Parts: sequence; structure tokens; C-alpha cells
Amino acid sequence: MRLSSKDLPLDLIPDPFLILLPDGTIFDVNTICADLIGIARDSLAGRPFGDIELFKPITAEVEDALRTERERKDVVFFHDRHFEVLILPFQTMGGERLIRIVLKDISNSIDLEKELLRRNKELIIINTLSSAFITAENVDAAIEELLKKILLITDFSSGWLLFKEDSTFSLKTSSGISERLKKAISEGALSQLCSDLIKIRDPLYFLEAHDVSKYETIRKEGISLLTAVPLTYNTKLMGLLFLASQRKGEKGLDFDAVALLSLVGNHVSLIIDKIKLFHETERLSITDSLTGLYNTRYFYRQLDVEIARANRYGHSFSLILFDIDNFKFLNDTYGHQAGDDVLHELAGILKTISRETDIVVRYGGEEFIIILPNTSEHETVNLADRIRVMVEKTPFLVDRSGGVTITLSGGVASYPQNAADASSLLYAADSALYAAKAAGKNMIICSKAQAHEKDIR
Ligand code: GH3
Ligand code: MG
Ligand code: MG
Repeated sequence: MRLSSKDLPLDLIPDPFLILLPDGTIFDVNTICADLIGIARDSLAGRPFGDIELFKPITAEVEDALRTERERKDVVFFHDRHFEVLILPFQTMGGERLIRIVLKDISNSIDLEKELLRRNKELIIINTLSSAFITAENVDAAIEELLKKILLITDFSSGWLLFKEDSTFSLKTSSGISERLKKAISEGALSQLCSDLIKIRDPLYFLEAHDVSKYETIRKEGISLLTAVPLTYNTKLMGLLFLASQRKGEKGLDFDAVALLSLVGNHVSLIIDKIKLFHETERLSITDSLTGLYNTRYFYRQLDVEIARANRYGHSFSLILFDIDNFKFLNDTYGHQAGDDVLHELAGILKTISRETDIVVRYGGEEFIIILPNTSEHETVNLADRIRVMVEKTPFLVDRSGGVTITLSGGVASYPQNAADASSLLYAADSALYAAKAAGKNMIICSKAQAHEKDIR
């Protein structure tokens, strides 16, 4: 029995399909296969398979299948679509050895796969960047780590991050650049470039070798390609991320690199915003809102830190506990708001006179405490007395009629000289303060002097 084309309802098969005879000529195709090839079904029968454009890439495989009668699978690209081609030898009931070829349009799944790969890459980037924030111990370390991760992802050799503060850009962190360039950037060598760049308002800028050569500081660094990514969050420009490459013959950025940098820029902006928010929340949690000084939460934490440090290195450190004299009277006379203003102004004086390393704390209502790391009792008493004198001489503006003056009493205690632990150190400072009040106020008494019943005024 010979096979007849009419015996085979090929149009029931949803995908392009054809049957080949053992000599490689077409026996029949279904309508959608003919449409795909672009030749009428009737005129395809009898044509050599290899003449058809669509099948040229798989001719060798079909010939192999004809010869070996083994199944084959391949992918061809035709008319902007990807087809998976299944080459399936079979035998008819009459014993004829033919070949079926089925084409499955897999373009959508290829697009899907590409999309999945892209998303996956994005997720890896986001994950990598976010981990800088999650693992870092503090804000500066987080930002430093973030830049390292950016360089890792983007394959640039060096970079630096500038934060916008008011109208200027300040260097926040850098990686892989020379001390000379770091210094130059800190001193504003790139401020003109920054302001020129942000005026253009592009989402990404890059300077190739001939642009770079206009900037001496960058040229000297051997940078051949410089990219600047503006970091914006909620339309606010937060900073500029510079990424540099020293590779010779660097030729701009391709589409993928630009897409990657925009993605990195977006996520870095988001992460920096979160870092800043985190920093601000942390700052507020240790700050007294009326005076802007540290609060007691921070004080107790730092007191433990100082005790540990003093124990480890054999240092001394000291405390000054101040209390405003007769503050209730000031409140009663000028009002509570005036009292608040005095507290605020006094905080400013304490901050100004104390050293950078001292920790100035609002300890209670009208009480202040200063931790002086690595400072002897003698030095502390001197500083405390300078503050006392300064405050005594300062007119505090509480109303339009002019200034009022206040006085302070203070108690000084040093670790380990006056106490063996945090609470006894506080007790020693408090007792010294109490002694100063009892002895007539407006004076400083130190714990040791108090023990000898002698004030140092
Ligand atoms: P002494 O010289 O013994 O310290 O007398 P004093 O009046 O300063 O001490 P007292 O403890 O009797 O009063 C402290 C006052 O400080 C009472 C309280 O109203 C005032 N005070 C505490 N916290 C604040 C504050 O935040 N704002 C204002 N305006 N006053 C405060
Ligand atoms: Mg008090
Ligand atoms: Mg008081």
C-alpha cells in the first residue's frame, strides 16, 4: 500500500510540520508550514528539502537522520522567530522509511528566559548592594562597603562618592585612587566639573579620554574613562558617584553597561537614602531635643565604653556634673520658655568650650554632664572652672529687656582614682556637686577635694 497525502490530516497538527521522503524530497507539509515557508503547499511536494531557505541550517542533520534513522533536535532562527526543530524518522505501515519534521515556535520562552536572566542579574545586584548596608557596623563603613560592591559589580577599577551638601559636593568615600587625587577632590578640584554635569540633568554622564584630558587632576591619575552617575531620590539630588577606568583604549560604554549603571545608580540612591535615614534616626535616639546635646541613653553607653578603655590602656578619664544654680527662680521670674532658651544657650557654651573628644550630655532638667576621655582630675577641674567663669560672665538673652546671668555648680570625679565602677563614679560626681551646692553654689568641687572638705574655687 502506497502512502497518499490524503491519508494524512496534517492540518490537525497545530505546529508547522512536514514529511520527507527517503531521497530528501518533500512529501507533504501542513498549511501553516507552507505559510511559514512562503510557498504554496501544492508546489512544495516533490521539491528537494535542502532548497528551502528555512531548512538550510539543518540540512546536514536531516541527511544524518535519513541515513542513521536517529532522531535529531536543533534550533533555527527564521523570520525573527526561534523554532525548535524536531527531526523524527519513522516507518509507515507499508514499510516506507520517512522523516517527520516538527517546528515549535519557542521565541516567547526564549524572551521569557532572557527576561528571567535579566531579573536574576538585577536581583543579584540589589542583593550585593544591600548587603553592604546590612553587614556594615556604622554609616561610614556602610558607604565604604557600598562603593566596593559597586566596583565589583560594574567592573570599574576605581571610584569615589560625593555627597551633596547645600550647593557643594563633598568627598564621602573613595576606592582605588591615589592620595593626591583624594586630596584634590576634597579640596574641590572637581567642583566645576560637578556643577557642569548636574546642569545637563542627564541620568548618566561619561567622559572619554579626550574629555578627561581637559581635567588635569584626573588625567594625571591615568584615567581613560570616567563615568558620573547622579544619585537622586524622590527627585532630590543626593550626590554623584564617579567610576573610573584606567584601561588603555577604553571605548565608551555599551548599552548593557549603561543599563547596568542606571540600575546601580537607582539602587545606590535608595540605599544611601536609607543609610541617611538610619543615621538620622540613630542620631535622634541619642540626642536631647531641646539642647541638641547627647542624652542619657548615649551617656550610659559611652560611660561603659570609657571604663572599658581606661581598664584596657590604664588611662584615667573624668566626669564633670553641672547643675544650674537657682534655676527654679529663673523659671518663676521669666517663664518656662525663657528657662528653655537659657538651657539651649548654655548647651552651646558647653559645646564650644569643651574639646572635640569630650562627650557633652544633658543629664536631666538643668543638669549637664561631660565625659572627658583620657583626662586627669586636675585638667578636668581647670576646664570645669573655665566653664563656670564663662557662664557667670555671659548675659543670657531671655526677653527684650536684656540678659540675665546664671551660675553653675559642678562636681568632678575621675576614674579610677575616685571610683571602681560606673555607678560609684556617678555617685562621686554627684556627691561633689552636692558639696558645691552646700558650700554656697557657683563653684566646682572635685571628689578628692570633697573628701578633704576643701573646694578648689
Ligand atoms: P539649685 O541651685 O539647688 O539647683 O536650685 P534649682 O532651683 O536650680 O533646683 P531645683 O531642683 O529646685 O529646680 C530645678 C528647676 O529646673 C525646676 C524645673 O522647673 C527646672 N527645669 C527642669 N527642666 C527644665 C526644662 O526643661 N525647662 C525649664 N524651663 N526648666 C526646667
Ligand atoms: Mg537640679
Ligand atoms: Mg539647679
